[in-house]
Amino acid sequence: MTTPLKTRFAPSPTGHLHVGGARTALFNYLLARRHGGVFSLRVEDTDALRSRPEFTEDILSSLKWLGLEWDGPLVYQTQRAEIYRAYVERLLSQGRAYHCHCDPERLAESRARALANKDKPRYDGRCRDLGLGPAPGSVIRFKSPQSGETAWPDLVKGPISFQNDELDDLVIARADGLPTYNMAVVVDDASLGITHVIRGDDHVNNTPRQILIYEALEEPLPLFGHVPMILGGDKKRLSKRHGATSVLAYREMGYLPEALVNYLARLGWSHGDQEIFSLEELISFFDLKDVGVSAAVFNTDKLDWLNSHYAKEIPLPRLASSLAPFLEKLGAENLDPSLLEKAALSVRERGKTLAEMAQKALFYFLPYPPLNPQEADKLLTPAGKEILRAFREPLGRTPADNAEFDALLTRLASERNVKKNAVAQPLRLALTGETKSPGLFEVIEALGPEKTIARIDKALARPESRDAT
Ligand code: GLU
Repeated sequence: MTTPLKTRFAPSPTGHLHVGGARTALFNYLLARRHGGVFSLRVEDTDALRSRPEFTEDILSSLKWLGLEWDGPLVYQTQRAEIYRAYVERLLSQGRAYHCHCDPERLAESRARALANKDKPRYDGRCRDLGLGPAPGSVIRFKSPQSGETAWPDLVKGPISFQNDELDDLVIARADGLPTYNMAVVVDDASLGITHVIRGDDHVNNTPRQILIYEALEEPLPLFGHVPMILGGDKKRLSKRHGATSVLAYREMGYLPEALVNYLARLGWSHGDQEIFSLEELISFFDLKDVGVSAAVFNTDKLDWLNSHYAKEIPLPRLASSLAPFLEKLGAENLDPSLLEKAALSVRERGKTLAEMAQKALFYFLPYPPLNPQEADKLLTPAGKEILRAFREPLGRTPADNAEFDALLTRLASERNVKKNAVAQPLRLALTGETKSPGLFEVIEALGPEKTIARIDKALARPESRDAT
């Protein structure tokens, strides 16, 4: 029986989940789901100074919001100190690691010297063959082979190799006994049975070191794939300078998770020239060999386009409930579910993000939307008010329908010898506060006669500044 495929996403909780990290998580998720394997999640929280529980929360919420549910228990590195110790002991007892008593100051000086000479800083191996035992403040180093090469067939980048003499004896356990990053990752991936290590290509330089540790431990090697990073428009690594980078910032701006998942999947991966993918399609098509080798540029216009697509595509009740928090943030009250759905329907094609759509739907939910003052001066004249009164009358009778309103508009327009839209404007302003809005009849229908009449009456009561006609 072959071992089931197992991937992992291993974020360090030292910041919010970045879209680049989310894409790494997505690729791991898709690969596991595609092959009926396991997608595991490990929190790499050994950096006590920079790790914070609120960042772990942020990462978990981001993954849940994107729909990237992980399998099995969540693993925290800080809970595995004993396991790491046992593996470090194994290397010590096999002569593949040694205690190093070097004075940290001397090491810092030699490091600074190397950097000043533009050399690669490396440990000079002073304690390598001294057979020292543990001592207060001492660290444990890996005895790295000094010749030969370490190579692997990268699942994304193709064959990669490093000369072993480029790699010095890295510290695997610090003075406090805790493992360093490379050691902890190998122990975790090996002991948790990870078969595919898919991560950002900022880790390429760590991989030969990790492979050497696997070999020393006589553990089977996983397959490695390094995904190119995401760039901003200036071709520099995507960072805050380019705008929002955290997943939850995109949620806050009003992007739908479907849109962000679809967008991130296509950022560096392709399947013919298809652009729109459901999660099921992504799972059935995903293949690491279709991940490009060069870095992809983050393009907000394309994300906006996908967001508009999904806003039209998702079931209306979902769009409505996704809009609700954005409306509340703008001060909307009493979000009646049926009005919310009508409002969502009327704005789903009128904004790129939920925030923009909420802005456009807010008038439905305010007792009286504030009237745009310049437009009100122009439109709420005696002539404009005459139009409002003409509309008010059939609203009092039920049922008044769209056909009747339309006939009324046509009549009022022809009496005044103007276009229908011109007569509609005072009414549009009275009902929505603006002269641009969703379809007028749609608005009247959604508000219902009572609110429509109240808004007309409020506009009629506005003092006129001048008569434009
Ligand atoms: N914790 C590492 C990071 O957040 C990832 C390590 C790995 O994937 O091997 O960059």
